[in-house]
Amino acid sequence: MDGHARPSRSLTPEPTLKAAPHDQLTLLDLATCDAHLSQLAHRRSAIPELAILAEATAEEARLDDRRIELDTLVGDLRRELRQAEAEVELVRTRRTRDEQRLNSGAVSNPKDLTNLEHEMQALERRITTLEDDELEVMDKVETAESELSGVLEALEAVRSKIAEVTVTRDATFSDLDGQSGELASERSSLASGLPDPLVALYEKVRAQYGSGAAALRARACEGCRLEINGADLREIAATPEDEVLRCPECSRILVRTAESGL
Ligand SMILES: [Zn+2]
Repeated sequence: MDGHARPSRSLTPEPTLKAAPHDQLTLLDLATCDAHLSQLAHRRSAIPELAILAEATAEEARLDDRRIELDTLVGDLRRELRQAEAEVELVRTRRTRDEQRLNSGAVSNPKDLTNLEHEMQALERRITTLEDDELEVMDKVETAESELSGVLEALEAVRSKIAEVTVTRDATFSDLDGQSGELASERSSLASGLPDPLVALYEKVRAQYGSGAAALRARACEGCRLEINGADLREIAATPEDEVLRCPECSRILVRTAESGL
C-alpha cells in the first residue's frame, strides 16, 4: 500500500457551492467565535468550584444522615437512662422502708429479723447492679451527645463552605456567561450577513467534524495543519475564487486567503 494515497478527493463539495470570497473569509471569523464559545463552555463545565461543591454536597448528605442517626440514638439512650433512674429509685424506696421497719422495732421475731436483713442485703446488691447499669447508660449518652455535637459543628462548617463556594461559582458563571453572550451576538450578526447555503454547509461540517472552516495559509490547512501537495495546490489555484473548497484531510471548508501561497 502506498502510504501517501488519500482515499477521497474532496476539494469541492457536492454539489459545488459558490460564495463570494469575502463571505468565505467571514466564515473564518465565525469559526473563531465558535472556537471561543466552545472554550468558554468547556471552562464553565470544568471550573474547580463544581468539583468542590459536588464533594461538599456529598459530605453534607453523609453528615446529615449521621446527625439523624445520632438524634435517634440520643433520644433512645435518654429514655433508657430515665428508666434506669426510676428503677434504682424504686429499689431504694423499698430498702428505706425495710430500714424503717428494722429501726422501728416492730419486727422482733428472730426469724423475721433474719429474713428482713437478708432482703435488705439483696436490695443493696440490686441497687449496686442497677447503679452500674445507670452509669453505663450515662456513659453511652455522653459519647453519643459528644459525637452529635461534633457532627453538628462539621455540618455547619460544610454548609458555610457550600454557601461560600456557590457565591464564587455564580460570579464565575456570570463572568463566563457575559463573555458567551457577547460572542453569541457577534456570531449571530456575522452569520446573518452570510448567504444561507454557505451557513448551512458550515453548520453541517461543524456538527460533523467539530469545526466548520479553516484558512489555507502558507500552503497548509490551518485546521488540521496538513500541507497541501503541489497537485492539489494547482487544482485550488485553478478553481474559481467563488467556489467553496473543502480540506481533503479534515473536511473543513478551506478558505483561501491573501497568504495562501497559491
Ligand atoms: Zn484540514
